[in-house]
Amino acid sequence: MIKIGVLGLQGAVREHAQSIEACGAEAVVIKRKEQLEEVAGLIMPGGESTAMRRLIDKYDFMDSLKEFAQSGKPMFGTCAGLILLAKNLVGYDQPHIGAMDVTVERNSFGRQRESFEVDLDIAGVANDYNAVFIRAPHIVQAGEDVEVLAKHNERIVMAREGNFLGCSFHPELTDDHRITQYFINMVKEAK
Ligand code: GLN
Repeated sequence: MIKIGVLGLQGAVREHAQSIEACGAEAVVIKRKEQLEEVAGLIMPGGESTAMRRLIDKYDFMDSLKEFAQSGKPMFGTCAGLILLAKNLVGYDQPHIGAMDVTVERNSFGRQRESFEVDLDIAGVANDYNAVFIRAPHIVQAGEDVEVLAKHNERIVMAREGNFLGCSFHPELTDDHRITQYFINMVKEAK
């Protein structure tokens, strides 16, 4: 059975694990960097990117995450996870993992809309995907090899670059597992 990791330091970890299992794959909650060797793909969940970064440093994960990104094994960042994955962050000198060729702005849908839901048309996934946004980032700029998969109000909210997938919203917070399945298919194709 295909094994998919969920970075288990902070955020919506269990919900992603449940979605992976609902798709018939095995979920591994990654608490130690050595566990990254066991999995064929990795999901980085939503939560709080600053808190996640502190824990990444505390548990010495950063080099292993960068190596994972370079290994060609697929990585999927959702919300805070997208912030971790991006090569550039608006207002910051340094990225976190800095792997996916996108510029991401944090908390970019405004305070008055801290959270909202919207039906998205997502290329290759669904034309009626109910997406949950919580203090969400968006992709301000995408590199030339990046395929834009979905937009909301002219803003890029989901994209893929080869084995990297990122979205602004929380696919793990509904019972719709089509995005998780899309990522699992990426992992199967990469193997
Ligand atoms: N605003 C959060 C951050 O900057 C992301 C929010 C989320 O993951 N729901 O990390």
